[in-house]
Amino acid sequence: MLWVVSSAEEHSPHTRAVAGSNPALPNQPKECIKKENSMENLKQILESLYELQQYDTAIGKLKKQIQTAPLEIEKKKLELENKKVETETIKKNYVSLNSLKKEKEALLATKEEAINKRSVELNSVKSNDAYKAILLDIEKAKADKELIEDQILESMMKIDEEIIVIKSAEKDLKDFEIKVKNEIAQIEQVTQTQQKEVSNIEMSREEQKKLIDKTFIDQYERIREGRGGQGICLVEKDACSACGTMLRPQLLNQIQKCAEIVFCDGCSRILLKK
Ligand SMILES: [Zn+2]
Repeated sequence: MLWVVSSAEEHSPHTRAVAGSNPALPNQPKECIKKENSMENLKQILESLYELQQYDTAIGKLKKQIQTAPLEIEKKKLELENKKVETETIKKNYVSLNSLKKEKEALLATKEEAINKRSVELNSVKSNDAYKAILLDIEKAKADKELIEDQILESMMKIDEEIIVIKSAEKDLKDFEIKVKNEIAQIEQVTQTQQKEVSNIEMSREEQKKLIDKTFIDQYERIREGRGGQGICLVEKDACSACGTMLRPQLLNQIQKCAEIVFCDGCSRILLKK
C-alpha cells in the first residue's frame, strides 16, 4: 500500500455543510491521503482515475440514451394512433354523407309514388274543384321532388370529393405507418448498438480499474455520485474546471507538488493538473 490517510482536518465549510447529509461526498478530510512514493506515481493514478471517469461519462451518456428510447418509441406509436383516428374520422364523414343520400332517395321515392297515385286519381275525379286541388298537389309534389333531386345530386358530388379525400388520407396513413415502423426499427437498432457499446466500455472500465488502488476508486465514486457523475476534474487557469472556483495558492502549490490528493474548495472534487 503506497498511501496512508493523514489526520489533517481541512474540510471547507461547504463540504462540512453537506458531508453528513450526502453520503456521496468524501467522508475523509480534504488532502487526507499522503503520499509515500514519488509524485509521478500519484499523478499517474489521478490520470488513470480521470480516464476511468471518461469511461463512466460515456457509459452514463449511453445509458441515458438507452433509457429514453422506449419513450421515443411510445411517442411514435401514439402519433400513428392519432393519424389512424384522423383517417377514421374522414371515413365517418363519408358514411354519414352516404346515409343522408339514401334518406333523400327514399324520400324521392315517396314523392314519386304520391305523384303517381294522385295522377291516377285525376282520371276518376268528378268535380272541377277536386280536379284542381289534385293538380295543385301534384305540382307541389313535383316541386318537392326537384328539390330533393338537387339535394341528391349535391350529396353525390360531395361523396365523390370525399372518396378522393379518403383515398389520399389512406395513402398518407399507409406512408406514415411505414415511416413510423422504420423509425421505431431504427431506434431499436441504435439501442442495441448502444447496449453493446456499454458492455464494451464497461469491460474497458474494469481493466482501467485494475490500474488504480481501491482507496482512490472508492473516494472518486463517493464524490462522483453526489456531483453529477464527476468526481475528478482538471485545473484550468488556476480554477476548478467543474465549478469555476479559483483555487487558493496553497492548493495550487499542493497540486503542483502532487504529494497528496487535493480537493476543490468549491465542489470537493478531486483536482488534477495535466
Ligand atoms: Zn470545484
